[in-house]
Amino acid sequence: MTIQARMDSVRSKSEALSQNSRSESKEMTEKPPLVVIVGGGFGGLAAAKGLKRSPVGVLLIDRSNHHVFQPLLYQVATSVLAPGQIASPIRSLLAKQANISVMLGNVTGVDAASKQIIVDADDKIGIRISYDYLILATGATHSYFGHDEFAAFAPGLKNLSDAESLRNHLLEVFEKAEIEDDPDRRQALLTFVMVGAGPTGVEMASAIAVMTQTTFRKDFRRIDPESAHIVLADMGSRPLATFSEKLSEAAKQRLVSLGVDVRLGKPVQAIDRDGVVIGDERIQAKTVVWTAGVAPSPAGKWLGCGVDRAGRVRIQPDLTVPDHPDVFVVGDTASLDQDGRPLPGVAQVAMQQGKYAALCIFRKVIGHPPSPPFRYFDKGNLAVVGKNFAVLQSAGVQLSGFMAWLVWALIHIQFLAETSLRFSVFLQWAWTYLSGKRGDRLIIRQRSGS
Ligand SMILES: Cc1cc2nc3c(=O)[nH]c(=O)nc-3n(C[C@H](O)[C@H](O)[C@H](O)COP(=O)(O)OP(=O)(O)OC[C@H]3O[C@@H](n4cnc5c(N)ncnc54)[C@H](O)[C@@H]3O)c2cc1C
Repeated sequence: MTIQARMDSVRSKSEALSQNSRSESKEMTEKPPLVVIVGGGFGGLAAAKGLKRSPVGVLLIDRSNHHVFQPLLYQVATSVLAPGQIASPIRSLLAKQANISVMLGNVTGVDAASKQIIVDADDKIGIRISYDYLILATGATHSYFGHDEFAAFAPGLKNLSDAESLRNHLLEVFEKAEIEDDPDRRQALLTFVMVGAGPTGVEMASAIAVMTQTTFRKDFRRIDPESAHIVLADMGSRPLATFSEKLSEAAKQRLVSLGVDVRLGKPVQAIDRDGVVIGDERIQAKTVVWTAGVAPSPAGKWLGCGVDRAGRVRIQPDLTVPDHPDVFVVGDTASLDQDGRPLPGVAQVAMQQGKYAALCIFRKVIGHPPSPPFRYFDKGNLAVVGKNFAVLQSAGVQLSGFMAWLVWALIHIQFLAETSLRFSVFLQWAWTYLSGKRGDRLIIRQRSGS
């Protein structure tokens, strides 16, 4: 089927829906409008689901075939969960939604003047697909703050393949340390540096600490995994800087009690294959993980519109791009101020914006007046610091310790994309919690010639 035929089929599937709404519609034409959503992450998926009952055809394009629950990527990297426990095929998540078609493709540009997007799919380069409405939800990637040379030695954690290769690497350095006779080289193998003390850095550092103290404790004969040196570095003055000072301090104390070496207030000057320079001190380390900055997708460049300092598209209060009332940008790749402060790059913002964009399109299509401006409802902030401990900040409530950890666990299970994943993660966590054993401790590398 050609791309055009596919688009016609998406539109015709939505005819039935449009028949129902036609009597209410002022704007409805013979062909239902086509909404193209780019990105099947938190924002794009929420938008797609929000259009379920709209008299439109929807085409969702993503360069990967799955939706990932990014907040649990660190658990794949530290062998608690398997990749398939935190991700689902986008196609299957939307299978019951008749007006949606899903396409595997990499969007490389937008021609807003002619209302077309440009996609590479399989071996077809530069396919043009017309849209009536466009929702860009293409997320973010790592930012090395102008030090792209760090990328080769300090990978980040953004998708499943990052998490899997980090898991392989973490497991491998313990194996190498087990057979290393030189004490300095062994210590470098057992030194882990996280650059960036936001939630991902804190979660990774504490998870590695727990891994060395529980699962690995009895597994090795020559090395003591607990001799691992885990460093959490940040040039800011406290970890979890988006939390209150009290919760930051609680998280710091917890990290220290887990044996994490928290180094604050000094910039990372250099990273190479043998270690890292923090301030003026060199630390020999075979593992450096970049948990610091993120940069948005190139959506701003595609649209040629105004962007903020980080490169995120400056959107209007109805989430559209200035001069393009049919183009919405949501989630990590969008920039919107609320009460004088930019909205944070978190899943809740992306989901609420995706839902709102879907509602705006629905109302336009059926000829209803526009929705009031978007307003983010902040349900709170959570970060986990090892076993039995999390920090929670929500509507004036500040909590740290076991209760916060229980809330963290329940909320993360609830927000997984499918019921089967919720069961699977719950059982895995219960097993790991009781036995100290991790689920997915496999080093899987492609061997040449096999
Ligand atoms: C390790 C980690 C931990 C996190 N922990 C938390 C947490 O605890 N709580 C929280 O609220 N938030 C957390 N976040 C942030 C949260 O995951 C993001 O804010 C959220 O995913 C943003 O949603 P989005 O839809 O904008 O982008 P994403 O969810 O990143 O989705 C973007 C989608 O677009 C696709 N895409 C990108 N470019 C293209 C293209 N050119 N063509 C086609 N498809 C494309 C991608 O494949 C992806 O599927 C975490 C993020 C990370 C990386």
